[in-house]
Parts: sequence; structure tokens; C-alpha cells
Amino acid sequence: MSERNNRIYLCLAHMSDEGLEQKYIKEAFDTNWVVPLGPNVNGFEKDLEDFVNSIVETQCIAPLQKRVVALCSGTAAVHLALIACGVGLGDEVIVQSFTFCASSHPITYLGATPVFVDSEKDSWNMDPDLMEEAIKDRIAKTGKKPKAIVPVALYGMPYDIERIMEIAAKYDISVIEDAAEGFGSRWRGQVLGTFGEYGVLSFNGNKMITTSGGGALVCPDEQAWQKIMWLATQAREAYPYYQHEAIGYNYRLSNICAGIGRGQMTVLDDHIRHHKYVQKFYEEAFADVPGITVHSNPDDRFDSNFWLCTILLDEKLKVKGQESAYSAAVQGAVGGAAGVVHAGGTLHTDCEPNANVEAMRVWLDQKGIEARPLWKPMHKQPVYKNASAYVNGVSESLFKVGMCLPSGPMVTDEDLAYIVASIKEAIL
Ligand SMILES: *Cc1c(COP(=O)(O)O)cnc(C)c1O
Repeated sequence: MSERNNRIYLCLAHMSDEGLEQKYIKEAFDTNWVVPLGPNVNGFEKDLEDFVNSIVETQCIAPLQKRVVALCSGTAAVHLALIACGVGLGDEVIVQSFTFCASSHPITYLGATPVFVDSEKDSWNMDPDLMEEAIKDRIAKTGKKPKAIVPVALYGMPYDIERIMEIAAKYDISVIEDAAEGFGSRWRGQVLGTFGEYGVLSFNGNKMITTSGGGALVCPDEQAWQKIMWLATQAREAYPYYQHEAIGYNYRLSNICAGIGRGQMTVLDDHIRHHKYVQKFYEEAFADVPGITVHSNPDDRFDSNFWLCTILLDEKLKVKGQESAYSAAVQGAVGGAAGVVHAGGTLHTDCEPNANVEAMRVWLDQKGIEARPLWKPMHKQPVYKNASAYVNGVSESLFKVGMCLPSGPMVTDEDLAYIVASIKEAIL
């Protein structure tokens, strides 16, 4: 069907032109630092600190002095942040429902329960009013405050961090920013992940930069940094022999992966620029296409990295093949994600994207273009059917009409023109 040789993916890894990633890895081998600590880990953490502490806006307050711990995944960063905020057995944690499962799964690792809060229309992220309602209601129902609040920068878009911090301060609850998808996104010029008590970053293979797999936790101060470092290295006590007084984790980033990260930090700004360029391309290309809306920064306080560019298809938009959408089971994961070995049991679930969205996904797939539905809200996931949820319908209705389009540094102008033309071609 397509004359093109290469598939176009949502967000493929892209290395620096100078091959710095390989240079740092080679150094690790040459100096025999093939362990989860070493010069690359320290160098990567320093680069991350310099980046997150940088503020572009002039009116800004005191310089930031956040500390960063490099970890083996973003999920590990969420887990350790929750522990540092005192989350334990029987506690509740408020978390944005419209997210990837890594925001909420670690809550359950601790024997705590997620309380899902829906999104506001403009940012697609945590609705601050609903969040306050949830806090009040949980206090009324359980007699206990939720232990932490986890807003998520979905697809890179900032959350209204000012209002979230204001409400969190009123009830004295810690905020853990999940900026895994929003590395380099800013709110009024300040990097996401530096507002809350802790900030989660991810360097998985498909994120803004990659260490193949990896993550980091932005910590408020030296003391918190030391605690996270200790928890990430099996909570070892300083004795000549192994002495353990608490349970820890093996969560530190390897010196090899950190070498990739150091190289990647040199292309981070380029990547962000490119994602924003792709976003602008879609905004302009779809401006006059009825029935398609591009999700954009709500106003100029928001500065998304546009990790993934997303569009909404009006439910009335007719797309080729939509009568037969969902008639065949999907083989493996959409996009061919590794490790998806469970076959879906049914063709439909009780909450799924509209037929025109699925038809568009299949159409683009046949054209060699990866697209995927928006993340299915956690409060609609069977695994969380017993969790409390404070909903307003926003995330569920977005899930039914939205899709993600390719946006990564490997997407060329030619690809973009082809993607836009293919989408227009699919519309009846
Ligand atoms: C990717 C992601 C994470 C976790 O990152 P990993 O490095 O894949 O463990 C956490 N939260 C969100 C919203 C993510 O998209």
C-alpha cells in the first residue's frame, strides 16, 4: 500500500551526531566502571541538575538548587518519591486518572490505594477544583488526609501547578510531579518537576531523551537527596560489612546507561525544539480541517515539550473503514511494544475509542504510520475497579475521540506532509 521503506514511529530514540553516547560508554568500559555507579552516573546527575535548575523567565524568584538522583526507571522514581513522602500500608494517594499506569502502580506496591482525580478540559491534566473536592471527601470519609498528590504532565503538557501547589499547601499534602513525559516542559519558564516536593523524570526508549531505560528523581534538598540515594542502593548502613536497618531497593542507574544519558543531554534542547516544530506543523496543517482539533498550549503560562502531538476526531467525522473497526483482534500491542504477551479476551471493552478513531489508527498503520489512542483513564481500568475516583467525564470523553501522532526527532518534513495527507485521505 505504501511506497515508503520506513515506518514512521511516534517517538524513536535519536542519538547525538557526534556519537557522544558511545564515547561515554566506551570510557566506562575502558576504565572498568561497568556498575550502577561511577563517573557517568555522577556526570549525568550534574547535567540534569543544571538543566532542571535553569529558569528562562526574568521575573523569577531565587535560583533553584534541586538535587537529582539517577535511577533505573521512572517507575522506580515514583516508588521512591512515595516512600519519601511517607506513603505506606492503608494510606491513600491522589493521582491523576488520565495517565500511564506507572503513575499509580507504585502506590499499590506500598499497600496504599490510589484515589483517581479527573482532568480539566484545557490542559487535560489534574483538575484542581476536583482535586480539592476529593481531598475534602476523603478526609470526611476516612478521617485521614491523602498522603501525597501526583499530577501528571500528560504528553508533556504542564498541569496548573500554581493552583495545585496552593491547594496542597492549604491541606499540607506533598506533591510528587510526574513529569516523565514532560521533561523540559515549563510552567512560566520553570522546568516541570521542580515545583513539588519531588519530580519524576523518565528516560525510557520512547521519551524525550533515552538511556535505553532509566529515570531520575528531582529532590528538594541535600537531606532528601541522601535519603533517596540510600533507598536506591539497598539502604546500606556505613559499616565495613553489610548492615541493614531498613528495606531498600536496587534502583540506581547503571554507569553504562548514564553514559547514554550524558550524550543525550547534549541533544535535549534540539529534541524539544523539534517536537515543538512538529506540533506547529500539525496545528497549521489541521487548522482548516473540519472535525480535527490539535491539542495545544491553553495559554502562555503553559510551555509543553509536546512529547507526543495529539489530535481529537469529532465523533461525527466519517473515516474510511469505520463500519468494520474492532472486527478483528489486535495482534500484540499497538506499536509492537515488547512484553505484551496477554491476548485481549474480547474485541470490545466498556470504554474504548470511537470507531472512527480506531479506523484512522488502522488506516495510518497500513500506510506505515504509527498512531495510537490516548491513554485509557485509570479509573476505567479493570485492575482499579475498586479504587475511589472523582470524575467529571473529561478524560473518558477525550479517550474516546483522541489519538497520538508521530512527533519524535526522527520525523522529517516529508514524513509530516505524508502523515497529514494520509489523515486527510482517510476522511470521507
Ligand atoms: C513513562 C512514564 C513513567 C515511567 O517511566 P519508566 O521509565 O517507563 O518506568 C511514569 N509516568 C508516566 C506518565 C509515564 O509516561
